[in-house]
Amino acid sequence: MSDSVPGTTPLITIRGLQTHFFTQRGVAKVLDGLNFEIASGRVTGLVGESGSGKSVTAFSIMRLMRAPGRIVAGKIEFQGVNLLQLTEREMAKVRGEKISMIFQQPRASLNPVFTVKDTLLRVLRIHKGLSARKAQRAALEVLARVGLPDPAVVLNRYPHQLSGGMCQRVMIALAISCGSKLLLADEPTTALDVTVQFQIIELLKELEDETGLTQLLITHDLGLVAELCSEVAVMYAGEIVEQAGVHALFDQPSHPYTRGLLQSRPKPGARGELQSIPGRVPDLLAPPSGCRFHPRCPLAQSRCAEESPVPEIVGEGHWVRCHFWRDLV
Ligand code: SF4
Repeated sequence: MSDSVPGTTPLITIRGLQTHFFTQRGVAKVLDGLNFEIASGRVTGLVGESGSGKSVTAFSIMRLMRAPGRIVAGKIEFQGVNLLQLTEREMAKVRGEKISMIFQQPRASLNPVFTVKDTLLRVLRIHKGLSARKAQRAALEVLARVGLPDPAVVLNRYPHQLSGGMCQRVMIALAISCGSKLLLADEPTTALDVTVQFQIIELLKELEDETGLTQLLITHDLGLVAELCSEVAVMYAGEIVEQAGVHALFDQPSHPYTRGLLQSRPKPGARGELQSIPGRVPDLLAPPSGCRFHPRCPLAQSRCAEESPVPEIVGEGHWVRCHFWRDLV
C-alpha cells in the first residue's frame, strides 16, 4: 500500500526502518519496520506521546543516532538516494546543505563559545563557498529574513546573550541559509513563551508559503498541528498508526489512539477535568503482542492481542492500522 499524499511527490520515503537500542536490559526495538513518507513542499506533523519514537525517527533521518541506539535495517530515500548508504562525509554534506534540524532547546544547539557570526559565516563559507564579505552580507540578509531585529547586533552576540526565541530564529536562519530542502523541527516551540511560540509558528508558515520548504513538525501538540500542518502522521510505540490530511484526521479520526489524543486536547474555555488516555506508552524492551495499543484501547478484542493490524485505506491519502476502525466511523 502506498502512503503517498495525493497530488504530491514524496521528498523522503522511509521503508522498513529499524532503529534499535542495545541496553544492558535487552534490545529495545524503538523503530521496528517504520514506513513513512514526507510530501514535498508540505508541512507534515508527526504526533504522539513522549516515548513513541518521534525524535528517534528524526535522528535516524539525520543519521545522528548515538549509542546505545543504532539503525540496523531499512531504507531512507531522499531525492532518489538512500541516505543509509552514504559515507559519513557524504552524509555531513547532506546535513549541511539539504536537511536541517531544529530542537526544543535552541540555545543548547548553538556552540556557546562561538558568536552567531562565527557559526553562520562558517556554514555559509563551507557549504556555499562564499567569500568572507559575501558570507557576511548573506548572514545579515538571512537574520533579517527570520525576523531578528537589528541583525548587525545579533551577528556579534553569543548564544547566552540571546533569548530562547532569538536562538530559535538563529537556528532557522542556519537551516535556510544553505537552501535546505527539508527542515526537521523537533518540538520547536515547546520551551518558548506563548507570544514567542506564536511568532515562530508564523515564521515557519511563511517559510512554507514563500519558499515551499518541506517540514516535518514533531510535536505532542495537536493545536500546533492544526495551525501549521497539511498532513499528519500519528505515532504510537514506534509505529505510524494513522496518517491523513489534517482535515480528514480531525474530522474523521479512525484510530482509537488518535481519538484519545484529540479528546485529551485542552479545549478553549473548557472547564472540568481534562481527559487523558489511561495507561502509558509501553516499554519497548517488551512491547505488547499484536496491536501495540491493545492494553490501553477501549475497543480492544481478543484478536487485537494476537494479530498486528496492517494498514487499511480509510479514504484518499488516509490510512489506519486498526482491526476495528470501522466501528469508530
Ligand atoms: Fe484497539 Fe484493536 Fe484497533 Fe488496536 S487493533 S487500536 S487494540 S481496536
